[in-house]
Amino acid sequence: MNYVIIGNSVAAVGAVRGIRKIDPRGNITVISRERHIAYGRPLISYLLGGQVTEKRMAYLPEGFYENNRINLLLNSEVIGLNTNKKQVKLAGGDTISYGKLLIATGGDPFVPPIEGMAGKEKVFTFTTWDDANKLKGIAHDIGRVVVIGGGLIGLKAAEGLHQLGKQITIVELADRILSTAFDRSAGRIVAKKMKANGIDVITEDTVVHVEGDGAEISGVTLKSGDIIPCDTVIVAIGVRPAAGFLKGSEVAVNRGIVVDDRMETNVANVFAAGDVAEARDFFSGQKNPMPIWPDAYIQGDLAGTAMAGGEKSYGGGLSMNSLELFKVPTISMGITNPTDPKEFEILTYQDLENYQYRKIVIKGKLLVGAVLVGNVERAGIFAGLIREKIDITPFRESLLAADFGIIHLPREIRNALFAPYGKVA
Ligand SMILES: Cc1cc2nc3c(=O)[nH]c(=O)nc-3n(C[C@H](O)[C@H](O)[C@H](O)COP(=O)(O)OP(=O)(O)OC[C@H]3O[C@@H](n4cnc5c(N)ncnc54)[C@H](O)[C@@H]3O)c2cc1C
Repeated sequence: MNYVIIGNSVAAVGAVRGIRKIDPRGNITVISRERHIAYGRPLISYLLGGQVTEKRMAYLPEGFYENNRINLLLNSEVIGLNTNKKQVKLAGGDTISYGKLLIATGGDPFVPPIEGMAGKEKVFTFTTWDDANKLKGIAHDIGRVVVIGGGLIGLKAAEGLHQLGKQITIVELADRILSTAFDRSAGRIVAKKMKANGIDVITEDTVVHVEGDGAEISGVTLKSGDIIPCDTVIVAIGVRPAAGFLKGSEVAVNRGIVVDDRMETNVANVFAAGDVAEARDFFSGQKNPMPIWPDAYIQGDLAGTAMAGGEKSYGGGLSMNSLELFKVPTISMGITNPTDPKEFEILTYQDLENYQYRKIVIKGKLLVGAVLVGNVERAGIFAGLIREKIDITPFRESLLAADFGIIHLPREIRNALFAPYGKVA
């Protein structure tokens, strides 16, 4: 079999492993428009801030590509797909034939048209190793930065630049930072921590004009009319599925590429996985991109298994976000902001002074969501209780306790949760 994988990040790695478990011999070609071997994308802010060296960016065991006999094409962008001829077209003009194709192209940063921004030199996005390198390379020339967008990527960029001693203002349209991934209290605690570190956080406002002569930036004007002086702008308002090259092909794209539970698209022999695909939500069954690292790997593994003729199907992704900013770890999972609160019970504990917050969302006898700030050690247990749909009634009072741990769980539940790793006494 001739496998072609577009993209060389975590979903692609999952797919290679999925394929090789079943088919040790088939040809695998991996095509990436980046020039690096697979690396930890979530590490780019630490690379920018100097806490991680270039050497630490690659996370695969040495020899991964050779041992899996992968034909790796770096610096190569796919610009078209012909599903009748079963070929992908590269930017250089070459075509590559496939028997089974995986699209694992992730997301592209979305840059809205903002007046005055075109032609300005120091406008950046922040999703790749090279983005971090570019900023690092001109760090001596950066004084004040405006980050547009207070989501995970914007906050990570802000933290990295802060480590380099830059002055930063975050401008967020919603009434709080981290509005999509976390709840109001978690957003408030993280904002408090950012402010304590000298980062300005402006909410319910947005940048409407980038000021400055020629290529130079002198500041930005906000919708409120306020002007913030700066010389650099980072646009971090979100990513869109990197599926532009599918234009004119028959592959269906909704909010992401539409796939079934084996990660196959509407076109036979064409699969999609990771941030570019629409994954099925664990609770609602609805399909949405689930842009998180662990889920991209799981989807890649499923796709690879299916491409090689194996049987495995997707149980649905549990949405989960984890973030550590200025040493405050934060994790959210499952349903954290129920739209119909009558159906749910919410228990919280907070100690804002010490950046501690815990929230659990219960539906009937089941834990369906959690937000943890400050102390995230038990996140794995919470995720297990949610995934395994365990009746939490016998220990629900302990769930918010600072020392909550497996010791609070009845033995049969401990065994149910940890059986794959051996019985717990
Ligand atoms: C700054 C930052 C911090 C993050 N932090 C976290 C975190 O803490 N926890 C977490 O769970 N997730 C985090 N994420 C999200 C996580 O990185 C993604 O969910 C994950 O990388 C998705 O993997 P993927 O394989 O689907 O795609 P990607 O990692 O996006 O990789 C896709 C690859 O395909 C390439 N490509 C795209 N189009 C083409 C084409 N036409 N031809 C050839 N190659 C192409 C791209 O250049 C890219 O290299 C973070 C992301 C960013 C940007």
